[in-house]
Amino acid sequence: MKSSFSLDGKLALVTGSGKGLGQAMSVGLAEAGADIIGVGSSDTNETKSLVEEIGCKYYEIIADLSIDAEIFRVVRESLRLDRKVDILVNNAGIIRREEAENFPDKDWHAVIDVNQHAVFKLCKEIGKHMLENGEGRIINIASMLSFQGGNRVLPYTASKHAVVGITKSLANEWASKGVNVNAIAPGYFATANTAPLRADEKRSASILARIPKNHWGKPEDLKGPVVFLASEASSYVTGHILCVDGGWMSS
Ligand code: NAP
Repeated sequence: MKSSFSLDGKLALVTGSGKGLGQAMSVGLAEAGADIIGVGSSDTNETKSLVEEIGCKYYEIIADLSIDAEIFRVVRESLRLDRKVDILVNNAGIIRREEAENFPDKDWHAVIDVNQHAVFKLCKEIGKHMLENGEGRIINIASMLSFQGGNRVLPYTASKHAVVGITKSLANEWASKGVNVNAIAPGYFATANTAPLRADEKRSASILARIPKNHWGKPEDLKGPVVFLASEASSYVTGHILCVDGGWMSS
């Protein structure tokens, strides 16, 4: 019997697939059977090898998602494969740190462009394709800072709140049209994004003290949640923000 978690024959577009959480989610989706279109601003060779070792196809698109024309190229190249894009994972994201009163405008725009505007554009353009097919799964990557204020990361917090707004808004509009839109809100994971936090002993200890699981998340911890939201197993789940946080939000 085919498992309701199987992604055999599916095609998933994953942004920021080259490392960190995007790499782990690409591998998780491939382990469940999906072929991957992986997007990064630099090469994603390591992920390509990992996905191909599993026996799935990997199509790489190198593109800078802070530029609209590049986003359109990602859409064009994805649809040119002449296959349905079944799953979109909007994972690419950046962070800039500075006191709010000194935050440079250029850093505000840089973060909003990748974390918010590119998410909107890809949801809109790949969403149209999914609506034509009458089905699709969109999974946006939110954050604990979709719920909290954070510290010295104002545009990141603004963009991750927006990711929740985009997710709920699209879920409402598209639920009856076969396209489910959900988000995963990771807690604190050990990746390049959080390297400065982990390098700061005091900050790192205070973060750890609030995590009931007593350890930072490992990128592989997102495999199960992303497969669930991409698969038939979650067909009645839409507009949900799934916290994968070792208990952070309840502590
Ligand atoms: P990461 O290791 O820094 O990876 C970020 C990814 O985004 C990279 O693959 C990067 O590709 C891609 N990216 C960044 N700017 C891009 C651009 N302009 N065009 C194309 N790709 C771009 O960070 P991560 O921790 O895995 O974060 C992944 C997502 O999870 C982000 O949205 C982040 O906000 C979110 N998140 C992370 C944590 C955490 O604790 N780590 C917690 C909550 C949410 P290139 O290197 O090729 O540019």
